[in-house]
Amino acid sequence: MVKKTAVKSELDKLKDKLCFVKKLAWEGIKPTEEKKIFALSEEYKKFLNISKTERESINTLEKLSKKQGYVNIKKAKKSDKKIFLSYDGVAGALVNVNDIENFAKGFLMNGAHVDVPRIDLKQFPLYESHDMAYMKTHYYGGIKKWHWVARPLALHGVVILENGKQVDIVIGEKETDPVFTINDILPHLAKSQRAKPESAIIEGEQLNILVGSIPYKFKSEKDSVKMNILKHLHDEFGIVEQDFVSAELQLVPAGPARDVGFDKSFIGSHGHDDRICAFLGMQALFDIQKTKSKENMIMIFFDKEEIGSCGNGGADSNLVERIVNDILQLYGKGDYNTLIKALENSKFLSSDVNAGIDPEWAHVNEPMNAAKVGAGVCLTKFTGVGGKGGSNEAHAEFVAELRRAFNKDGVMWQTAELGKVDEGGGGTIAKFLAAYGMDVIDCGVPLLSMHAPFEIASKVDIYHTYKSYMAFYKHLKC
Ligand code: MN
Ligand code: MN
Repeated sequence: MVKKTAVKSELDKLKDKLCFVKKLAWEGIKPTEEKKIFALSEEYKKFLNISKTERESINTLEKLSKKQGYVNIKKAKKSDKKIFLSYDGVAGALVNVNDIENFAKGFLMNGAHVDVPRIDLKQFPLYESHDMAYMKTHYYGGIKKWHWVARPLALHGVVILENGKQVDIVIGEKETDPVFTINDILPHLAKSQRAKPESAIIEGEQLNILVGSIPYKFKSEKDSVKMNILKHLHDEFGIVEQDFVSAELQLVPAGPARDVGFDKSFIGSHGHDDRICAFLGMQALFDIQKTKSKENMIMIFFDKEEIGSCGNGGADSNLVERIVNDILQLYGKGDYNTLIKALENSKFLSSDVNAGIDPEWAHVNEPMNAAKVGAGVCLTKFTGVGGKGGSNEAHAEFVAELRRAFNKDGVMWQTAELGKVDEGGGGTIAKFLAAYGMDVIDCGVPLLSMHAPFEIASKVDIYHTYKSYMAFYKHLKC
């Protein structure tokens, strides 16, 4: 017996020395840290509840950063060192300038996207059928369409009138507001629906929201319900049917983010992907101000990631170039060589969510290299499909720098792959930034139910993702 124990202990010692053990991040949490974990999540929920679209997110970021002393670049002077930039109100950046003389050495950059999978109104949405009024929609991003039926939806967005005036619309978030919904067929009559493949259970053209049923002046005539809705919209918002053409109106699940579980260890919300990394990146940049770093730092908020990073606010545009150029111009350092060198020498965290292992669907993951919920931030060296197709793959040297920084600060981290090798896959903004020559890696929170109307994130993973962004800004050098 004695001998056996001695052998085991030697093996244990060897294991301690040589093995990487993925630990549960909740294990051994001290009360002071527990407080920090839950406090950070409270702030994050507040952010989520007022930032349901990309425009609302950029508005929130401007407001919160202003309180931290950031100045909009349009009003900034050379003496300002904390700058907020907005591009068309749908994308933006926060910049901490700590070394005006050395822009060419590059920036510590972090970036997340603030667009989310959702349902948009069509250009001419309103119609009447069977004495009820409906609006047609066109979904945005990768959704399972059947997730969106028979649930309360809120309408968020802007209408730009012909004269250029902007009308902001938020309906469905207050208790007294009405909501909207996409109806589904009753189970009793769903025989033909149930025989269809998943993608056709509810089709794109069936995603129509119910918006009313009272005829104009209570007289039933052709289109009198539609007319009554148009009259209501005109009375309340001053809009006519043609104004929908120049509108961005989005349907999102109504209501606030919620704690999930008896122990409140999770947050459930629409659009964690990727406002979770946007919020944490913002918070890390605010908090890193208190250190005396000599590195220039940026947090970028992209649009259109969910539809391929296109558009002028997406990562597959020259947005990052424009951001850096605008900063260089502000301080009178805007020559092309400085710009191109600054981009090449930068280090970039492509902050986005990854898929946590769901016990009910564990067969899609390879557990040794998949993300575990509650085991901390995910470092994703590559994404892509099949043989890493379409992926940026981070250089080993950059990964080494990051794990050194994370280990130094006690960040609970894990590596993550999006599913088994040939199971599927996906991409992020990473490859678009790598095109400038900078080092890029994906880094973010593991989720359950990603892209569903109610996504789940663990509060301890949120906390360690924040800590990882802090460690990145604190320890890495360009
Ligand atoms: Mn994402
Ligand atoms: Mn996504």
